[in-house]
Amino acid sequence: MQFFTEIYREKLPDYNITGIVFEHNETKAKVVKILSDDQNKSFSISFKTPPTNNKGIPHIIEHSTLCGSDHYTTKEPFADLLRGSLQNFLNAFTFPDHTMYPIATTNEVDYQNLMKVYLDAVFLPRVRNDIYPFYQEGRRWEKSEDGELKFNGIVYNEMKEEETNPVTLASRVISQKLYNGTYIYEAGGIPKDIETLTYDEFLKFYEEHYHPSNSLTVLYSPLSLIDNELTILNEYFNGKGFKTPSHVTDKDTNISGTFETVQYPIDSEESDEMKDVFVYAWKINNCDPELQFALDIIQQLMVTVEGAPLNEKLKELGIAKNVTSRFESDFKSPYFAVVAKNADPSKLDQFKQVVNEELQKIVKDGLVYAMLCAYAHTHDDPDLFRSLRVNWIITKVREGLNNHYLEDIVQKCFIENNKHIIVRCVPTKGLTEKWEKESQERHAEMSKDFDEKTIKEIENTCAELKRKQQAEDTPEQIATIPHLRLSDIDKKGRDFSLEEVKNSIKTYRKVDVTNGIVYFKYFFDLSDLTLEQLRVADFLASTIKSFNTKQHNYLTLGALIDINFGKLTFNIETHVDSHLGTTTEDINHVKPYFLISGKVLNSYITDGIKILAEILNDIQFDIKILQKKLSEFIVRSEGIIKNSSFSPMSTRIKSYLSKQGVIEEYLNGITSYLEDVKLRTNFEKEGLSFLHSLEEIYHTIFSTNRCTLFYCSEENIKEDVLKQLTSLQEFLHGKEMGKVQEYPNPIVKNEALQVPIKVNYVSKGFNYASMGITFNGAFKALMEIIEKEYLWNKVRVEGGAYGCWLSYSYNGNAIFASYRDPHLYETLTTYDKVVDYLENMKFTQEEIENYLIGIFADIDAPMTVSGFFNSCCNSYLNNTLGISQVIREQLFQVTLERLKEQSSIIINGLKKNTVCTISPQEAIKKQSGVFSEKVNVFEKV
Ligand SMILES: [Zn+2]
Repeated sequence: MQFFTEIYREKLPDYNITGIVFEHNETKAKVVKILSDDQNKSFSISFKTPPTNNKGIPHIIEHSTLCGSDHYTTKEPFADLLRGSLQNFLNAFTFPDHTMYPIATTNEVDYQNLMKVYLDAVFLPRVRNDIYPFYQEGRRWEKSEDGELKFNGIVYNEMKEEETNPVTLASRVISQKLYNGTYIYEAGGIPKDIETLTYDEFLKFYEEHYHPSNSLTVLYSPLSLIDNELTILNEYFNGKGFKTPSHVTDKDTNISGTFETVQYPIDSEESDEMKDVFVYAWKINNCDPELQFALDIIQQLMVTVEGAPLNEKLKELGIAKNVTSRFESDFKSPYFAVVAKNADPSKLDQFKQVVNEELQKIVKDGLVYAMLCAYAHTHDDPDLFRSLRVNWIITKVREGLNNHYLEDIVQKCFIENNKHIIVRCVPTKGLTEKWEKESQERHAEMSKDFDEKTIKEIENTCAELKRKQQAEDTPEQIATIPHLRLSDIDKKGRDFSLEEVKNSIKTYRKVDVTNGIVYFKYFFDLSDLTLEQLRVADFLASTIKSFNTKQHNYLTLGALIDINFGKLTFNIETHVDSHLGTTTEDINHVKPYFLISGKVLNSYITDGIKILAEILNDIQFDIKILQKKLSEFIVRSEGIIKNSSFSPMSTRIKSYLSKQGVIEEYLNGITSYLEDVKLRTNFEKEGLSFLHSLEEIYHTIFSTNRCTLFYCSEENIKEDVLKQLTSLQEFLHGKEMGKVQEYPNPIVKNEALQVPIKVNYVSKGFNYASMGITFNGAFKALMEIIEKEYLWNKVRVEGGAYGCWLSYSYNGNAIFASYRDPHLYETLTTYDKVVDYLENMKFTQEEIENYLIGIFADIDAPMTVSGFFNSCCNSYLNNTLGISQVIREQLFQVTLERLKEQSSIIINGLKKNTVCTISPQEAIKKQSGVFSEKVNVFEKV
């Protein structure tokens, strides 16, 4: 290839692949080619983008480059590609010092198409000549209905949400105190700084950094594609000349050992007891891959794994209820932090002292050897690039086991490292309100000199933006986006069937290429348990590895589990009969199971079964451990409800739609959290009897007649594996099944859950099975179109929410949901207005085909062995085997008329007015009449 020179080539024997580095002659742009015969191909291009302020420029560029470019001229090629291609990965990321644009697909034509679209996006984006993508993704003034001037913008809203998380706030302090240079700035942006960003600054940053000389391209694909790939790259690199690459600076400060404080918001009605967060952070200079890998292990052994010494000590002394760690390796010199959540504010000094003492102890006594073996054994990281260099480091670490290798690192990186600080995050009431007031004042100040003309301009800009957002792409624009045809798609889908095996336990298996790993699942039927008993069983599942057994304490037991199993988990799963045409009666028969699932090497199964037998028979239940786990669960749930509110919202709304949802909410939802809090409050009275129920369930549920075994292994060992897995039977001493229980019916609600957050999670749903509807290909296509077309435009692009979905499943649920949404009532109205959209829906067959391609991209995305095995088990347990092939065939037949026929399902479903939102108090208050029920989740009890 005349435009590129090969400068380096290396065989990577661990993985039997070769890496080649090319340099573009003119611009010196580097291109790494990894020769691979993987069916999946991937491409990425990255630019160094070190920020020099907190205005979020790298992040806003990342978003706005994807809003159209010179050759791909629709409003949002990114969204078009999500539906018109077989891509299985299409994204963009802003890191602290660089920005990356990766894609992946299994189709060769698609791969080259996507590569071109992405290169066009980064080198020829519309936003360099047109300010509107900047307004949309970055920031713009907007006049609200009551005449107030404020800011809106997708990145602006996205970063607002980050501000309530104490760990994010602490990490800002850490980078400002320990770092000098690039990393003191937040590449994502801080809202009040984003407000001051100008389009000129934005363009200047773009011009400076988005140059081939400042880029790195990675191609993971077969050798046969190399000429095409380099030709495509040259089209974009050619003629740009050489430019000195951007410079990332990373220097030390002279701050060392200080205590810093930062406030974070909690709800005014929430208790602030034990809500501090302490963060002890060390900056690690000169961190090479070897040190990084070693620190990763140290993090596991010191903090993360069950029973890790530092973690246990801090909890034991009542300093904190929950201890985690953070290794921020996106920085050139990373920082390592011990994070103590739900900490006691009076014990900050003790926190520092204990951490230091524990570190000294680790250096003196050494880290637990058994755990280290376990770690090395289970470390099968799917990240290709890390794997490439993992083997020699593992060898080195193992050789170093007896000569203090890790302990010396602890000594050097922590004990002797004076680049450290401690940040205390103080829970503060009224802070969100204060911030809101400050931003109102700030906006008033910023806009005080706006004359009528300026305000008119703002209104015009918003109106014009809205017009552009609503304008349909022209056929010429649409024609610029490359897409595959239905004829490129295979008519036959995957086969999820299992083979039923004659055995003394009911058994099903799948034979697959698994690299010698065996995947297994033991399902124990719990249909004779009451709802309350299921909750106890769920508790059992989450605590079972935390108790001692007659033979071992839980630490050793944990190490034995890790040594023998690649993974071993316990949880409760529910299944319902979801065959095509399933009825209310079918989905009312919910089957709950206690599930033991894991992966193990064939040669380890016999030892593994012994451990499992011990866990299922010899646990010594202990009230103290129960109490400790209970408070851990409460802390974890609180974190999830506040920081990942989407999941509790989805669980909640499903409880209005089906019995299965009622059970899931009772076990994993906000109800379960509130039950946990109740138990904690009354623990003196009720703790012991709860422990007894735990014990009773434990002695009941593990029996052969409740058990169904599923496993997946290689062909040549399948019989041997069967024998070994069946041997667990000798150790199953539970009781026969009793009478099958009836579970409570769902109750339709429209409910608002108040939580101290800044944004909304808004959902509305219905169950089509209970309406007598049979799932079909056209219905599936219609829902996908509503999600990717209507919701995307209305809720995300126009509304400013970070995400929005219309999700559905064979059990009948169909749910509209928004994520990090600035609006609540407007979004509900948008959901209802889908009716208008459906009535006026017009597509050409080609447009429909495009959507179908996107649907097949999801259906045919590459699956891991364990993911595939899961789907096989689920299709058996949910009685859905064969549905996907029927739906697949129906998808090829979708026409506008068939889509229209399905509209009434959605129109009628929405009439049921089943709504759930998780929102801040201020948002709910605005039109509280909409909701028949309001719950303040963190009300003091
Ligand atoms: Zn973003």
